[in-house]
Amino acid sequence: MLFDFNVQTTIDKNYDFCIVGTGPAGITLARELSTSGKTILLLEAGGLNYSDESQDFYKCESVGHDGWPQYTRLRYFGGTSNHWSGRCRPFDSSDFDTQKINGLPGWPIQYSAVQPYLEEAMNILDLDIEQGFKPINKDLLKDHFSPDAFSKSPPTRFKGKYLSEIDAAKNIDCYYNATATDLTLDESHLTVTNIEISNYKNYKSTISANKFILCLGGIETPRFMLNCNNQIKAGIGNSNDMVGRCFMEHLNVPMGSFIYRNLDNTARMQFYTDDNFVSVINIGKSNVTLGIIKKVKSYGRTKAIKTFFKNLACKMEIEDKVQFISDFKCPGMGNIGTLIEQSPNLNSRVSLSKETDDFGLSRAKFDWQINDFDKKTIRETGMAMAKEFSSAGLGIVRLADFMLDKTLDIPFGHHNHHMGTTRMSENPKYGVVDKNSKVHELDNLYIAGSSVFSTGGACNPTMPIIQLCLRLAEHLKAKS
Ligand SMILES: Cc1cc2nc3c(=O)[nH]c(=O)nc-3n(C[C@H](O)[C@H](O)[C@H](O)COP(=O)(O)OP(=O)(O)OC[C@H]3O[C@@H](n4cnc5c(N)ncnc54)[C@H](O)[C@@H]3O)c2cc1C
Repeated sequence: MLFDFNVQTTIDKNYDFCIVGTGPAGITLARELSTSGKTILLLEAGGLNYSDESQDFYKCESVGHDGWPQYTRLRYFGGTSNHWSGRCRPFDSSDFDTQKINGLPGWPIQYSAVQPYLEEAMNILDLDIEQGFKPINKDLLKDHFSPDAFSKSPPTRFKGKYLSEIDAAKNIDCYYNATATDLTLDESHLTVTNIEISNYKNYKSTISANKFILCLGGIETPRFMLNCNNQIKAGIGNSNDMVGRCFMEHLNVPMGSFIYRNLDNTARMQFYTDDNFVSVINIGKSNVTLGIIKKVKSYGRTKAIKTFFKNLACKMEIEDKVQFISDFKCPGMGNIGTLIEQSPNLNSRVSLSKETDDFGLSRAKFDWQINDFDKKTIRETGMAMAKEFSSAGLGIVRLADFMLDKTLDIPFGHHNHHMGTTRMSENPKYGVVDKNSKVHELDNLYIAGSSVFSTGGACNPTMPIIQLCLRLAEHLKAKS
C-alpha cells in the first residue's frame, strides 16, 4: 500500500524489513522480499513526482572534479530510473578480479555469485532474453579490442512499471515524502533498532524493524551513514574510515577525432578492451566509441553567430542554404568517446560538508579524483586503439594533445554512475560491507546499489545492481 507521510503520519508497526529508497535497488528488493510474506516498510524521501523541494536535498558541495551530483540523480519515487538511458551490459568473470589496485583488494565474490540472476534481471529491465547481449559491430580491431556487446532497456521506468504493484502488495507499506534522517543503535552498538523519518513539515517518527537495507544511491548512502552520528561520532559503519571513500565513476574522455577511409561504411563502432591487454599492461577496462558527427554542435559565440545568420537568412528566404552551411562537416569525420573504468582510490570520496539542508543534516561534500593509474588506462587505451584502427585500414585517428603529452591535464566527463563508496570487502579495513552486503560492524544493516561495487568495470551499473539485489533478497529470505 502507498501512504503519503505528509498526510498519514501514524506508523505503529514493527516490520520484518525496512528498505530505504525506491530506485531500481529498493523496488527490486521490496518486490523480491514480499514473496516471503514478511512485512516490509519501504521509504521514499521524495513524492510520487519530481519537485524542486525534494531535489534541493541533493545539492552538494563539490570540491574535486565536478560530476554534477545534484543533477545526475533524481529524488522521488523510482529514483534515478526516472531519467536513466537504459544501456545494459552485465559484468563478466574478469570483472570480479581479486587483484589489489592502489593497495585495495578487488571483489570478495566471484562471477558465479551473480550469474544465476542474469535472466531475472533482464526481465526486470525489459531486455530481450533471446537476443541477449549482441556485438554492435564486426570484429575489426584484432589485437587488443573486441566489438562491444550490450542490450538496450526501453528504458524501464521503475515508477511506471511497479508503482501499482507496490500499491497492491498487502505486505508492503510504502511511505513517500518520508526522508530517513537517522538510525538508532542498541546499547552494544551492534544492532540497528529504529529508523527516524521526517516529512516536509518536519514532523518526525521513529519506526522499528528487524533488518534495514539502505538503497539511496552511491552518494546519498554514505552521506546518510555519516550523518547518523549521534551515538558514534564518525558515523555508522565507519570504524575504519571507509564510508564515502573510493568514489568511482566511468570516465568519459574526448580522446580525439577520426576520419573513415571507406565512406560507404560510416556506421558507429564500439569496442571493448580485451582482458589479456588489460592484464598485461596493468590498466583498467574501457569501452571506446567511434561515432560520426551527425551535426556540428555549437555553443556560446558560435551559436550567437549562427543564430544571427539564420535570422537574416529567414528574412532573405535562403534559410535552407544557410542551414546547409551551418551543418557542414567533413564526410566520414567523427569523434572518439569513451566509458573508462576508474580504479578505487581512497582520496576520491564523499564526506560531510559544513553546509546543512532543511532537516539540519550536513550536505554531501563531493571530492571526485582520478589518479596516475587511471591516466595510464586512458593513454594506453587511446594509443592502442589509434594504432589498430589505422593498421586495420579503417581510417586515421587524431589523438588529442593530452593523450601524448603527459604534462597536460586530461579533460574528462562523467557517465552518471556513482560507485564504490561503501565497497564490498572481506576485510573491514578495506571496505564497508561484507560479501553478503551486510555492514561489517552491524548485525542487521545491509546496503544495496552500486556503492557496494569493489571495482566498477567498464559496463553500466544498473544490470549488476539488480543482479546483486536479487542475490541479497535470496540471502535475506534464507536468513529470516
Ligand atoms: C541521465 C542518466 C542516465 C543513465 N543511464 C544509465 C544507463 O544507460 N545504464 C545504466 O546502467 N545506468 C544508467 N544510469 C545510472 C542509473 O540511473 C543508476 O545506476 C540507478 O538508478 C541506481 O539505482 P539505485 O536504486 O541504486 O539509486 P537511485 O535510482 O538513485 O535511487 C535512490 C532512491 O533513494 C531515495 N532517497 C534518497 N535519499 C533518501 C532518504 N534520506 N530517505 C529515503 N529515500 C531517499 C531517492 O529519492 C531515490 O528514490 C544513468 C543515470 C543518469 C542520471
